[in-house]
Amino acid sequence: MSLTNSNFDDVRNWDIEHHLHPWEGMEDPAAYERTFVEGGEGIYVTNEAGEKFIDGPAGMWCVQVGYGNTDIPQAMAKQALEMAYVSPFSNSNSASAQLAHEIAKRTPGDLNTVFFTTGGSTAVDSALRFVQFRNNLMGKREKKVIISRQKAYHGSTYLSSSVSGKERDKGWLDQAEGLVYFLPNVNPYVRGKAQTVAEFLDEKVADLENAILEIGPEKVAAFIAEPILASGGVIVPPKGYHKRCLEVCRKYDVLYISDEVVTGFGRLGHWFASEAVFDIVPDIITCAKGLTSGYVPMGACIISDRLIEDISGDASKGATFSNGFTYSGHPVSAAAALANIEVFERDHILEHVHKVTPLFLERLHALAELPLVGDARGEGLMGCVECHVKAEGDQLSMDHEVGGMIDAHCAKMGLLLRPLINMCVFSPPLVIEEAQINQMFDILGEGIRRTTDDLV
Ligand code: PLP
Repeated sequence: MSLTNSNFDDVRNWDIEHHLHPWEGMEDPAAYERTFVEGGEGIYVTNEAGEKFIDGPAGMWCVQVGYGNTDIPQAMAKQALEMAYVSPFSNSNSASAQLAHEIAKRTPGDLNTVFFTTGGSTAVDSALRFVQFRNNLMGKREKKVIISRQKAYHGSTYLSSSVSGKERDKGWLDQAEGLVYFLPNVNPYVRGKAQTVAEFLDEKVADLENAILEIGPEKVAAFIAEPILASGGVIVPPKGYHKRCLEVCRKYDVLYISDEVVTGFGRLGHWFASEAVFDIVPDIITCAKGLTSGYVPMGACIISDRLIEDISGDASKGATFSNGFTYSGHPVSAAAALANIEVFERDHILEHVHKVTPLFLERLHALAELPLVGDARGEGLMGCVECHVKAEGDQLSMDHEVGGMIDAHCAKMGLLLRPLINMCVFSPPLVIEEAQINQMFDILGEGIRRTTDDLV
């Protein structure tokens, strides 16, 4: 069906009347004016009126190769014409087998077994269920508690939302009771004035160890952590945090799940950030989003040989891993992911991220000079500006959802962001050029200045 401007009011009404969006505010859905994104090219998207915007968040941290790529859709079409669907339960397919092989070639250490899912939430869910399965088989039925962190986001299934730690999202929906323990915020920005970053790091690592000891190591199954907490506000823990946490986990036989749904596939300039950036080889990695550059849904949970050995052969006691989806390893998604990897290699996308990251971070950090900005932080092509009242006596008020105000100003100037309370986060398509980075930060700076004028 093609849409014309003449019936666009109908479309807007259908969306309001019949379409329940994720995280929909229920008080007055009609009051929220959504941008209808109808087209895109490179780092830009266009709305129904043909207005062009830089896509600051790359969709939802996912459109790595940018919009309008033809290789991925062509590979999908070819696969769909040849063989559109194969049951992963009873059969297999060369696209998903080849993709598992290509992923295993790029993962750190001995993470060589790939379980395909439909997205990030189901990847995290499957990782957690695999941990339960392994511990049950090993006779460790008591070892079930998952340690997560405040501000973490791991997904929207019952299990993955239960390990998510964003306070604002809690309370409306039920969560698994007694399963999860949350560690305090690991954001160095919120540390006490007298505390050094090194002291803060010690404290955060001690938080993990103390939690394990408090719960009892025999009851703790796994620690789950995003290398950088993405939708919690691009929280970059102090250098060395993940490595020291992994050491604590090893000491108490606690598995380490690294949730790379956002950081995987190039966001930090590597296929996976765990080893390359944070110097850890976790037990399980979850990924999604950038795996297909968002062109089609797919996720994966990648498991180490060590864990597979724990439950294989005689140790399996005849058990089956009874977890899976109709669309696990969907051939069309697998073909998209394979084409995506080819595009990354042909166009040297990882190298490009390394080349443009210094400018991105320089322009990002410079925003900290603005009076409204408390912290401007990031890593690779992930950034966040967090606003605050700068000094006592300042007239700037935090009663406003400042992120939304900045976003509204920037949208008028051609930049989409992701507002989160007093923050705006952004993670542009990885193909962004240096001139476009400058354009993006020029608009963002101006959006912050205009918001400041609104507030004083
Ligand atoms: N894990 C992380 C770190 C995420 O950021 C997200 C989504 O933003 C998820 C898991 C859930 O992924 P999905 O929305 O594909 O289910």
